[in-house]
Amino acid sequence: MINKINTLGGYFHEYQKSTLDPESFWAQQAEFFFWRKRWQHVVQWEFKTPSIRWFDGGKLNITENIFEKNLYTHGDQTAIFWEPNDPNDAPRQYTYQELFHAVNQMANSLKREGISKGDTVIIYMPMVPELTIALLACARIGAIHSVVFAGFSAQALADRITNAEARLVLTADQGYRGNKVTPLKTVVDEALSQCQGVERVVVYQRAYVDVSMTPGRDVFWQEFISNASDDCVATEMDSEDPLFILYTSGSTGQPKGIVHSSGGYMVYSAYTFRNVFQYNNGDVYFCTADIGWITGHTYLVYGPLLNGAKIVMYEGVPTWPDAGRMWDIIAKYQVNQFYTAPTIIRSLLSMGNEYLLDKDLDSLKVIGTVGEPINEDAWHWVHDHVGQSQCPVVDTWWQTETGGVMISPIAGVTPTKPSFATLPLPGIQPVIIDNDGVEQTGNSVEGNLCIRYPWPGMARTIWRDHERFRQTYFANYENVYFAGDGVRRDEDGYYRILGRVDDVINVSGHRLGTAEIENAINEHPLVNESAVVGCPHAIKGQGIYAFVVCPQTSTGGEEGVKLSIKQGVNKRIGPIAKPDYIQIVSNLPKTRSGKIMRRILRKIAEGDASSLGDTSTLLDEQVIDEIIQGALVEV
Ligand code: ATP
Ligand code: MG
Repeated sequence: MINKINTLGGYFHEYQKSTLDPESFWAQQAEFFFWRKRWQHVVQWEFKTPSIRWFDGGKLNITENIFEKNLYTHGDQTAIFWEPNDPNDAPRQYTYQELFHAVNQMANSLKREGISKGDTVIIYMPMVPELTIALLACARIGAIHSVVFAGFSAQALADRITNAEARLVLTADQGYRGNKVTPLKTVVDEALSQCQGVERVVVYQRAYVDVSMTPGRDVFWQEFISNASDDCVATEMDSEDPLFILYTSGSTGQPKGIVHSSGGYMVYSAYTFRNVFQYNNGDVYFCTADIGWITGHTYLVYGPLLNGAKIVMYEGVPTWPDAGRMWDIIAKYQVNQFYTAPTIIRSLLSMGNEYLLDKDLDSLKVIGTVGEPINEDAWHWVHDHVGQSQCPVVDTWWQTETGGVMISPIAGVTPTKPSFATLPLPGIQPVIIDNDGVEQTGNSVEGNLCIRYPWPGMARTIWRDHERFRQTYFANYENVYFAGDGVRRDEDGYYRILGRVDDVINVSGHRLGTAEIENAINEHPLVNESAVVGCPHAIKGQGIYAFVVCPQTSTGGEEGVKLSIKQGVNKRIGPIAKPDYIQIVSNLPKTRSGKIMRRILRKIAEGDASSLGDTSTLLDEQVIDEIIQGALVEV
C-alpha cells in the first residue's frame, strides 16, 4: 500500500525529502505498483520545448494495477455503489471481480472492432457504471479515451470528436439528471452529421427508449459485447504512452485537449488520493464530480480504484428531488469521505439548513472541495453543519493539466484555514513570480502561481498542438510551469488562490484578486453568490463591477442592499476594493462544471457584449441575455 502521511511532522519530513531528492522520492512511491518492466530513468525533463518523461522505459497497464494486483485480497469487495438519479429506482453494485469481468468484456469487444493501442475513443455517456467500464476497457487495451461531458451540445461534441480523431463513440440512448432528460443519441447523430471519421457508435440503453440507429454504424451495447470473453490480457504500455485526452472546462477560452500519460498519472493519482483524503481500507468514498471532468477521472475512477477503494457514483444532481439528496446518499452508504465543489456547497447553503435536519452524517470523516476558490461563508457552513465541526475540510487546488491535487491540506494532518489551499503536497514546489519574471521569495507575497519542478501527474502536451502547450504553460516564465492562477503566500507560508491571473483587477495601481472581493461580498447575509470583474474607469484605470445573486432584497430594497454590500467590502478589505457597480442578477454564467465564466462578464462590463467568444461549454445561455439587458454601463 502507498505510504500515508499521518502527522504534521511526517508531512514536513516527506516534503523535504521530495524536494531535496525528487527522483528517490517518486521512485519510492512508484515501487508500490506492478510494473511489467521496471523504469530506467525516474524523470527526464526540460521546460523549454517542453519535454517531460517519467519512469521512462517502464512497462505497465494501469488496469492491472487496479485489478490483477489486488483481486486476491479484495476481489469480493465492492468497487462501485451506484446510486441512480431517481431515489426510487434500484441502485447497483459491482465488486472488483465483477467490474474486472465487465471491463474485460468491453475491452475484448473494442478489440474485435479493430480498436487498438493508440486509437482514440470518445465517450459521451451519463453517470452509469458502464461509463467507468468504458474508461477502463479503453485503458485495458491501450486505446486513448476522451470523455465529453454528457450535457455538451452537438457542436461541442463534434469539435472534440474532430480534434481527437476518434473512430468510435460510446454513448447512451438518454441521460437522466434531476428532472431533465438528455437525448444523448440524438445529440451524437447531430454531431456526426458535422464531422467525419467515426465508423462505429455503441449505444448503452439507459432508458430503453426508441432511438434512430444508422445501419452499419450504430449498435446497442448489449449486442456489441455479446459473446465477448470476460478474460482479456492487458496491453503493455510504455510509461509515456497517453492514457487519455481530456478537454479543459473552457473557463478562459477555447478548451485544450490535455494529454495524460500512463505511468506518471497512475503513480500521482493513487498517491494523492490516499494522502489528501486519508483513505483507509474499507472506507466509503463519494465524489460528486461527473466523469466528464478531471476530478471524475482522477478522484472518482483512477485514484480510488488504484487504492482498492469503495466508491459511490451518483447519476443525478445535488438538488433533486430536493436539496437533501447529498445527505441522503451519505447516510445511505455511510460515506466517510465526501468530495465536492464550492458551487454545489453554495447552492445547498442558499436553500437553508432544514434539508440537513434528521440526516445521519456521523459517518463523515473528511470533506473536500475543488474547482474554484471556496469563500469563507461556504467553508464555514460545510464545516459546521455538514461536517458537524468534526471533519477537516480540504480545499484542493489543482487543474486538468496537473492531473491531481497540488496544493491542499492533508486531511487531519495539515491545520486548515478557511479559503486557503494551505500547503503543497510532497513533490510539488510552488513558486510565486511577479509580472516581470522576478521570483517573490519569503512569506507575505503574492503573484503568479508557478511550479518549479515536474511531477509525475502533469500533462505532457495538448493533443496535436504541442506549440500551444509550450506557449500556454512554459513561455511566460523561464524554467517553470505557469498555472495561470494568482496566489498569495501569507505570513504562515500558507497558499491562498486569488483567482485567474487574467481576471486580476488593477485599481489605481493596486492589484486585486477576484476571489477575495467575492469572498467579502458573499459574507452579506442576503447574497448567495457573486462574480467580480474589472471595467473601464476614467480615473482609476480599472473599476470594480460586481454581479450579485441576491434573491431577496428585504427592507431598503435593492439600493439598500447594494449600499450594505459596499460597506461590507469596505470593512473587510478596504475602500480600494469597493465595487463601483453592483448589478443584481438571478444567476451567473457558469461552465457545465459549475465554474463562473468571468471572461463573459468582463466583456459585458466593458460594454462589449457583441463578441463573447467561445460559449460552447456554458450551462445556460439565457442567463447572459438577462445580464446584458440589466447591465449598468452603456452596452
Ligand atoms: P480552461 O483552462 O479551459 O479555462 P478551467 O481552467 O476552468 O478551463 P479546469 O482545469 O477544470 O479548467 O480548472 C482548473 C482551475 O480551477 C484552476 O486553474 C483554478 O483557477 C480553479 N481551481 C480549481 N481548484 C481550485 C481551488 N481549490 N481553489 C481555487 N481555484 C481552484
Ligand atoms: Mg485552466
